[in-house]
Amino acid sequence: MAKIIDGKVISAAVKEKIAAEVRGLKEKGIVPGLAVIIVGEDPASKVYVSNKKKACEQLGMYSVEYALPENTQIDELLKLIDNLNKDSKINGILCQLPLPRHLDEDAVINAILPEKDVDAFHPVNVGKIMNGDYDFLPCTPAGIMEMLEYEGIDVTGKNCVVIGRSNIVGKPMAMLLLHKNGTVTITHSKTKDLAAFCRNADILVAAVGRAKFVTEDMVKEGAVVIDVGINRMADGKLCGDVDFDAAEKKASYITPVPGGVGPMTIATLMKNTLTAAKKQNKIV
Ligand code: NAD
Repeated sequence: MAKIIDGKVISAAVKEKIAAEVRGLKEKGIVPGLAVIIVGEDPASKVYVSNKKKACEQLGMYSVEYALPENTQIDELLKLIDNLNKDSKINGILCQLPLPRHLDEDAVINAILPEKDVDAFHPVNVGKIMNGDYDFLPCTPAGIMEMLEYEGIDVTGKNCVVIGRSNIVGKPMAMLLLHKNGTVTITHSKTKDLAAFCRNADILVAAVGRAKFVTEDMVKEGAVVIDVGINRMADGKLCGDVDFDAAEKKASYITPVPGGVGPMTIATLMKNTLTAAKKQNKIV
């Protein structure tokens, strides 16, 4: 049976360290500030935004939410971002994705100042990550790396297979595993014989967005299985991309859904907001 990697416990440890640093900054008169923009009524996005706000409050950070209507036009959104770029109380800005279809996501990502881009989606930050010399790491992949480190899982020389090639998860995940000397394969919807790649994975990261996509036959005996997927089932319950009950029998480590990668994503966002505040106040 696999050891369960508990994202709640690990994220609590990360957040405790952040809260201590935030208290130290407050003594210097600095309060890290995060602005979260949400456009439209997507229920999952609303939950994520509310969790991010709650985490800010819990850690003593300042947070402000801009909930914009579905029919918001790009000019209004860019104007808001421009104002937040200039606002010294705001150190980090994030715009919850996906945006309604009529809004150009790239235009929005490009409008956020790289030094306030706590999601690390701006091309400047993406380029820095490629070079291995970065200020911020994208929240979900960085949270996963933190989990591996916490559990003492060495990536060096391991066969790492990432399922999914999104800019948010799959691609940066592969890059971070590569930085830690993993031998990395990125697989996707056009990959032929995906199961064969997965069966060869010492570390398997599933970021597909399909419930129970990774079946028992795709998991190597003793593999580390990281489940990024968040899928809402008909009964309202959340389910990952991995068939947990089956994979748990073969894996050495596995992350649950919920309570695995999700809490780590938020903890990393808080870490990035703290880093942004420190950099903007010339503390690091
Ligand atoms: P996405 O839709 O942008 O990308 C999905 C990827 O899966 C694509 O690259 C696609 O090529 C691949 N894919 C689709 N069908 C496939 C198939 N049959 N075989 C192999 N690959 C296939 O999604 P995303 O933004 O990367 O998110 C993936 C999942 O992770 C979603 O469930 C999302 O909700 C979840 N997510 C969770 C967190 C978290 O904090 N836990 C953060 C971000 C995303």
